[in-house]
Amino acid sequence: MGHVCIVGAGFGGLTAAKELRRRAPDLKITLVAPQPTFVFYPSLIWVPTRLRDPGDLVIPLDRFLRANRLGFHAGRVTGLKDGGRTVVTDTGEVANDGLIIASGGRFVRKLPGIEHAIVPCAEVADAVAIRDRLEAMMAGGGGRVAFGFSANPKEPGAVRGGPMFEYLFGIDTYLRRKGLRESFDLTFFSPAPKPGIRMGEKAVERILGEMRRRGVATHLGHRMTGFEPGRVRTEGGDIEADMILFMPGLTGPAWLEGSGLPLSEGGMVRADARCRVEGFGRTYVVGDSGSFPGPDWTPKQAHMADLQAAAAAANLAAELAGREPAETFRVELICIVDTLDRGTMVYRDPKRTLMVPMSVFGHWSKRIFEGHYLRAFR
Ligand SMILES: Cc1cc2nc3c(=O)[nH]c(=O)nc-3n(C[C@H](O)[C@H](O)[C@H](O)COP(=O)(O)OP(=O)(O)OC[C@H]3O[C@@H](n4cnc5c(N)ncnc54)[C@H](O)[C@@H]3O)c2cc1C
Repeated sequence: MGHVCIVGAGFGGLTAAKELRRRAPDLKITLVAPQPTFVFYPSLIWVPTRLRDPGDLVIPLDRFLRANRLGFHAGRVTGLKDGGRTVVTDTGEVANDGLIIASGGRFVRKLPGIEHAIVPCAEVADAVAIRDRLEAMMAGGGGRVAFGFSANPKEPGAVRGGPMFEYLFGIDTYLRRKGLRESFDLTFFSPAPKPGIRMGEKAVERILGEMRRRGVATHLGHRMTGFEPGRVRTEGGDIEADMILFMPGLTGPAWLEGSGLPLSEGGMVRADARCRVEGFGRTYVVGDSGSFPGPDWTPKQAHMADLQAAAAAANLAAELAGREPAETFRVELICIVDTLDRGTMVYRDPKRTLMVPMSVFGHWSKRIFEGHYLRAFR
C-alpha cells in the first residue's frame, strides 16, 4: 500500500499519523523527529507560576507509536531529494511514497540585542528560565517585567500573541496571591496599536481593559528597534525592565530554505486549500510550517494544525488509493486567554466571532483541552 513519511512529532504530525492509520490500516508510516517526545506547548504558560512542572508537558511517545503501529526515525530533517520522495536527515535518508511536513515554525530573531530577552516559546527551558528569574526577583524584593510580541511583517498572520497575554495575566495573579504585586511594575508592549486584533476588536478591548484593571502599563504602536540589557528600545521611547519576555513573529523552520519547496514571503511552505504543496506530488504541509489560503485572521494554532492534518491525511490516503484528493479544512480560531484562575474564550469562523466573558469556566476549559490532548498522545 506504500510508505508515508511524516516530518514532526507535534500537534500536526501526531494528528496526521493517527488519521492516516485510521484510514489506511496497512500503510507503512514513519514519523521523523529529533526525539520521540511530544511537547504540549499551551500549558508552558503555567510553568513560571508552578501550576505545571516541565515534566508534566513532555510526553514520551512510545505508547502512541505502538498503538498506531508507527515507525520512528530519530533525526533532524535537512532537506529533500527526488521531488520529495526522499527525506534527508542528519541520521540518514527516508524514502517514501507520500510526505506530510509538520515541522512547526521558528521565531524570527532579527532584532538587535534579542539575546537580552527571553523568547518564551521555543523550548521548555525558556519557561523554566522565566520561573527562576521571577522567583529570584520575588526573593530580591520585586522588579520590572516587560511582556511583548510582534508579527512577521512578511506574513502578518504568523504571530503568536495569546501566550504573552497569558504569561502577563498569570504572573500578575500569582504575584497578587503572594502579596507581592505592589513590588512589581508590569508593562505590556507591542508595535501593533491593537495587539491581538485577529481575535476581533471586542477581544482587544477586553484584554486591554483587563490590563488597565490590573494596573499593567502599556506601550503600544511604536516600532521596535532592539533590546539592551534591562531595556526594550522602540521609536516611541524605551521600556526599562529587569526581565523581558518577547515573542517575535514566526517563520518556517530553517531546513526549508535549501529544500527547493515553494516558500511564501514569510518563509513558510506554500500550500493550497487541500494542504498540497504546490508543484510537489503527494507532498502535504500542515500546521505552523505552512502558508495557506484563507482569511487574514487564520491562526497558527494547535487546533488549526489538527484540522489541516486531518485534511492532509484524508487527501494523501485518497491519492495512494488512486482517488482524487478532495478534502479541505475548516478555518477556525479558538483562543482561551488564561489568567491562572479565570479565562476568556474567543471563537471565530468566517461567519461569526463569539466571546465568552472572563470566568472560571475559561480557565477550566483550558485544563480540559490539555487533558484531552495528553490522554490522546500519552
Ligand atoms: C507557549 C505556547 C502556548 C500556546 N498556546 C496555544 C493554545 O492555547 N492553543 C492553541 O491552539 N495553540 C497554542 N499554541 C500554538 C501551538 O502550540 C502551535 O500552533 C502548534 O504546536 C503547531 O503545531 P505543529 O505540528 O505545526 O508544530 P509543533 O507542535 O511545533 O511541532 C513541530 C515538530 O517538528 C519537529 N521538528 C522541528 N524541526 C524539525 C526537523 N528539522 N526535522 C524533524 N523534525 C523537526 C519538532 O521537534 C516537533 O516535534 C501555543 C504555543 C506556545 C509556544
